[in-house]
Amino acid sequence: MDPEKLRDLLKLQEIDQEIFRLGRRIVRIREEREDLKRKLEELEEELKGLEERCKALERRKKDIREAIEREEQMLASTERKLTMVRKDVEYKALLREKSKHEDNILKMSYDLDDLEEELKKAREDLARKEPTITRMIKELKEEVKDLEGEEKEVKNKIETLKKFREEVKRAVDQELLRLYEEIKDKFEAKLIVKVEDGICSGCGMKIPDMLFSKLIKENSVDRCPNCGRYIYYKL
Ligand SMILES: [Zn+2]
Repeated sequence: MDPEKLRDLLKLQEIDQEIFRLGRRIVRIREEREDLKRKLEELEEELKGLEERCKALERRKKDIREAIEREEQMLASTERKLTMVRKDVEYKALLREKSKHEDNILKMSYDLDDLEEELKKAREDLARKEPTITRMIKELKEEVKDLEGEEKEVKNKIETLKKFREEVKRAVDQELLRLYEEIKDKFEAKLIVKVEDGICSGCGMKIPDMLFSKLIKENSVDRCPNCGRYIYYKL
């Protein structure tokens, strides 16, 4: 065999391996990004939970305060009545009513004290954790942005390599090229891969929407236009 011919093919193979490697990188970037987004959601949930807890306690505090005010008004009204009654029976009944209102006020005041304490702790908890959570959220968002930038960069590299590949391909001996194209997929991890969210899980590239719809609708197997693997949506 003419070594010159082989050298051309080797060049092509190197480009393909690089495209494949970059494709895997894109898959990993997307996985990393999903991970980060999950973490972000968890942190945002945690912060929201801490804030909601304070708000709920504040609402309860307001409710109890209002209930105490109502009891105080009723107490005042009972006290007014007490100064006016003549009959002993009525007087005693009003006294019982008065002491009932006083009991209620006292009980609710205790509840209010407990609630104040709980609210104080919840606010301290929020104040202590909030700066860290906010900082982590900021950092995670930056990481997500970095990954998005990297993905774009990798995609551009793939596009450039593909153009270069076309040039190199022209120089390769046709017979060798045919053989190589036939078996090249076998050298990469998997020949038949699943398409997830419209993305070939073999090379990480998005497949055309029409092809994706066809795979779903016809439950068929096709080839990824990018890497040539057999792709399916559901088997
Ligand atoms: Zn593919």
